Amino acid sequence: MEKILTSAKITQILCCSFGDSDQSYFFSYKQKAPGGVERAAMIWGKAVPTNLVNWLLNPTTKKLRRNAQQLRVVLGPGQSFVAWDPKSYRWSIPEALQNWLIAHDCQKNSPKAITLGYSGDYFVINKSGSYSYRSSALKHYENARHSWKTIHYITFSASEAKQCVIVFDDTLTVGSPDPQEDYRRILDSYATEPILDHYEVERERQDHLRVVAAEKAARAERRAAERAAREKQAAEEAQKKAEESQRIKERRAAAKARRLAREAREARAKEAKEKREREAREKEQKEKAAAEEAARKAKAQAAAEQVRAEQARRAKEAQARRLKEERAARQREARRPQLYADWAAACEKAKEAPPATLKIFPAPPKEACECKLIGCVQRKKDTGLGACRHDMEALLKASGKYDIKWLRHERLAWHPDRFGRKCDPFKKEVLVKKATEMWEIMEELIEE
Ligand SMILES: [Zn+2]
Repeated sequence: MEKILTSAKITQILCCSFGDSDQSYFFSYKQKAPGGVERAAMIWGKAVPTNLVNWLLNPTTKKLRRNAQQLRVVLGPGQSFVAWDPKSYRWSIPEALQNWLIAHDCQKNSPKAITLGYSGDYFVINKSGSYSYRSSALKHYENARHSWKTIHYITFSASEAKQCVIVFDDTLTVGSPDPQEDYRRILDSYATEPILDHYEVERERQDHLRVVAAEKAARAERRAAERAAREKQAAEEAQKKAEESQRIKERRAAAKARRLAREAREARAKEAKEKREREAREKEQKEKAAAEEAARKAKAQAAAEQVRAEQARRAKEAQARRLKEERAARQREARRPQLYADWAAACEKAKEAPPATLKIFPAPPKEACECKLIGCVQRKKDTGLGACRHDMEALLKASGKYDIKWLRHERLAWHPDRFGRKCDPFKKEVLVKKATEMWEIMEELIEE
């Protein structure tokens, strides 16, 4: 161990502990390897506890299985020791200390300083500042100005009672209850200087580590702040986006509601318009129907009026005609006796005419031949006489002598033989035909 310490290759002491004999020591360190690389290593004495060696080495391969960089070993008197790395503990220690370590969850909260002293003495303090000890030596310091919580490093002598070195955070105390003791003397004369040097180096290292840690913390804080700012910004953006999205959604919903309302309004307006148009159409149809009905009625009335007027006109005309006819009839009646007298005179003249001289037939006056019966009209044309039995009856009655006896007498004159003798031979045929007709009319009148 001395050879290593003096080799000048050591760059850092990682852990160093002494037991109660020359060969009871443990030492881990960093040294420069060829090529300038730092390498962690460890050595230990032949008298270290067998349990510790079994924990350090693989029991079968005998190869080192602990990392010197993270390993801590504290040796005590005899076979007592405590050793740990981040994964496990191995110890052989007083029961009180064992209980304390278990109770304070040493796996998570590893000791900041721990030492095993002579005859079951110990001191332990963890990184949270909890501590426990059993040592008569420390009674001397209990009223000192230091608090145990500020202990940075402590070691008891494994072979002698009441010998210790304590490093508080800001000072070094090397003590024993008796300043005259050899151990104290040795420290004063020899050991204190390197310890103090190491302490200075360690303190600088610790300061540096604190600065680095502070810088790291500051960086972490800065990063955290930046991250927080980014997250805040992101959250604000997300919020903004969400609000925007909400606004868009609301706008869309409002637009949709407006559209629906508009459509409903338009539908209502359309419906109302259709209703109005339908009503207007119905009204128009009703009015048209009413107008048509009125027109039809008016037309019917007009037609009826026309018919009535026509009937009235016809009635009037018929009346007028009847009156005219009656007047004419009355006039004819009034004139008929005269007509008869004239005709009777013509007939008498014809009777008295010498035989075979009559050239003109004494025809009944046209004025007295008024019968318009269809058969009579035709007969009058056919015979050439121009008179029918009705005409003759009326004319003869105007004589005032009309009866059967008179008629028989009158008929004699128109016998075709008797009348024929009077006729001019050239006219006889026509004249006899007319006389025959007269004869037949007379006979009809007689037979009635
Ligand atoms: Zn007639």
